[in-house]
This record gives sequence, C-alpha cells and structure tokens, in this order.
Amino acid sequence: MTKKSPEPSTRPDTLLVQAGRHPHENHGFVNPPVIHASTVLFPDVETMLSGKQTYVYGRRGTPTSAGLEEAVSALEGAAGTALTPSGLAAISLALQSCLSAGDHLLVADTVYGPNRRFCDAVLARFGVEVSYYDPLDLDALKAAFKPNTRAIFTEAPGSLTFEMQDIPATAAIAREHDAIVLMDNTWATPLYFKPIEHGVDLSIQAGTKYIVGHSDVMIGTVAASERAYGALKQCHGDLGLHVGPDDVYLALRGLRTMGVRLERHMKNALEVAGWLSDRDDVTRVLYPALPDAPGHDIWKRDFTGASGLFSFELKPCPDEAVHAFLDALQYFGLGYSWGGFESLATWARPKPLRTATSWDAAGPLIRIHVGLEDPADLIADLEQALAAWAATRG
Ligand SMILES: *Cc1c(COP(=O)(O)O)cnc(C)c1O
Repeated sequence: MTKKSPEPSTRPDTLLVQAGRHPHENHGFVNPPVIHASTVLFPDVETMLSGKQTYVYGRRGTPTSAGLEEAVSALEGAAGTALTPSGLAAISLALQSCLSAGDHLLVADTVYGPNRRFCDAVLARFGVEVSYYDPLDLDALKAAFKPNTRAIFTEAPGSLTFEMQDIPATAAIAREHDAIVLMDNTWATPLYFKPIEHGVDLSIQAGTKYIVGHSDVMIGTVAASERAYGALKQCHGDLGLHVGPDDVYLALRGLRTMGVRLERHMKNALEVAGWLSDRDDVTRVLYPALPDAPGHDIWKRDFTGASGLFSFELKPCPDEAVHAFLDALQYFGLGYSWGGFESLATWARPKPLRTATSWDAAGPLIRIHVGLEDPADLIADLEQALAAWAATRG
C-alpha cells in the first residue's frame, strides 16, 4: 500500500495539522518547500500560450503560497483565500475587490483605526461614499442602507472597546440589500468564529496576530465566499500583491500550533480578566468571554472561544498615573500589535476614532494582550503596577 494525503478532516485540531500539506507529493517532506521565485519556466511555447500551467510567475503564486491559501480556506470554509503583505492590506484588498466609484459603504464605528483611515483617505478619493454605523443598533443600521449601498464592513468584537456586533443579524439585513458583507475576524480567528458560515462574504484576518503567533512576521488573509471569490482573486492579481515565501512559510508554521496557543491564551486571559474585575481600582473589564461583560450573550451564542486580547477601564485619574501604571509593568511590554506568545499593554484612546457613537468613559482604557506566561506572574505584575498607579494618583 502506498501512503497518500489523508482525507481532509473537519475537526479543527486535525485540520490545523493537515491542511495545505501534501508530503507524499513532495518527496515525503512534512512541510512544503519554501520556493523563492520570479520566473517560472515552460516546457514549450504551446504550454506557455495555453494558460494551463499551474504556476506561471512568482507574483501569481507558488506551492508555498498555495499551501497557506489551501489551509486558510479549509479552516474558514471558503471558496478561496488571498494572501496580503499585512492585515491592513487584507482590509484594503477586500474593500477594493467589491467597491466602485459611486458605491456606498457602511463601516462599523468600532473597526480597527487604520481601516477608517483607508476608507476616509483612499476610498473617498476614488469616489466611494463612506458612512459609519453604531454596531449595536440594528434599527439604525437598517435605516442607513441606501440604494447604492454595495458593501458593509463589520468587526466583532470592536477594536479597543470590544462591542459584540450581531454578525448573523447584520448579514441578514445586508442580504436584503444584496450588499457584500466583510468582517475583520482577527480577534476570534476562524477557530472560534466562522464568518462565512454566519453570512459573511469576505473574512479578513491580520495573520500577523494569531496565525503567525510569534511577533516576527506581517501577513494578512482574505477568505471569500463563492459569490465574492472571483472578484477578490482578480483584484489581488490586478493590484500586484505578493507575500515573500519566508513569511508565508512562517505563517504556515504558526498555524500548526494556533489551536493549542489560543486555548492557553483564553485560559490565561480569563484568569487575568477575572482578577481585574474584582479590583476596586478597575471600573469595568471589556472581555466578552466574562459572564458579566457587555456582549457576553452574543459571544456565547456565536463564538466557540475567546482570544487573549481585552480592555479594562481604570478609575478616573490624572494622565501621570496612567504613565506610572504602564511604565511599572515588567512582563507586559509596551507595544503595538498582539497575538504573539508574549503579553503586551497599550493605552487605548478610542474617543477620536468614533463618529457614529461616542466614547465618554471617565477613566482611562488599558488594552492588554495576555500571553503564554504563567498567569500568576502576570497578575503579580499588574498588582505592583496598580500600586504605582495608586501612589501617583494620590
Ligand atoms: C493588527 C490588526 C490589523 C492590521 O494588521 P497588520 O498586520 O498590523 O496590518 C487589522 N485588524 C485588526 C483587528 C488588528 O488588530
């Protein structure tokens, strides 16, 4: 008997290990080759002109990029996936693939900040009309559709403030208007929420975060439903987007362990978030997996897990006390991005990023990424930083 690639499994852990690998078509090597390429040679002119050769030019794909695309499509239940050089490029590609001058785009007010900037600075310049909506107000959303509304952008939970938008209900409204539904699903990853199963057409991940998981690569993925994939693939080719093979390889390598990493991120985050919510100096914790947190019901209904990123609001204090708190942290690094193995903290400032809603919290908002360290160390770190905060606050 000769070994072949096994039948694809739908169980997530098996899928993460198997998807996009074909060892027995690749001299038996467990992982796909890292192919550095621009030129691809053809055996003869006839083949060159026929368009039938699988790989024709480095920019248009290699067995390395095909491996990651195949794995993400399997995980997302997608018709196909496009890879981009960053998460933000995945957002901009997805939007460009479905919008034209004169179209109207609806964007959740709580999306990732640079996404707004792309919509306001670039899409608007190309004649796309952009408006923002409150992700928690479905009646207002229904009223916001116009005859030229072509697409709606969603994100759950919202960036920085973790509002749980009802994705199935939003997608159902969009369907009535024949609008394409886009979702930034970086927080949950398709392991914990399946956008395409819930009515989304273009499911976006900043692979930089949990797919890569080690804070060393920037990459993005857009997985498409049947009706959105043709335009996505065309636009990806037309824009000339390409990801270097070493980065694709590291993303594939990260993907293999994403399941076990996410499980631990969630366990640690629940412990740290629970500890924070019992503190007198913390006004509230915005982590949808906590039973008392805003949006918990929707999270519980639609999501099968939570990742390691959440925010909490401190009691009102002068800015110096926020500096003292963040500067005192030892295990939590001060830095952008998240999704790596290590813990991070930032001072989240959503107020200037909101136009359809307002952010009027009296105290400062701290966003943390809970990494894979022992949560006892993380809690001790937060405790001593809160002592520095209290000493400065007076
Ligand atoms: C980080 C992030 C992005 C952008 O990803 P990059 O790879 O940094 O460009 C997009 N969406 C969300 C929700 C993010 O957190």
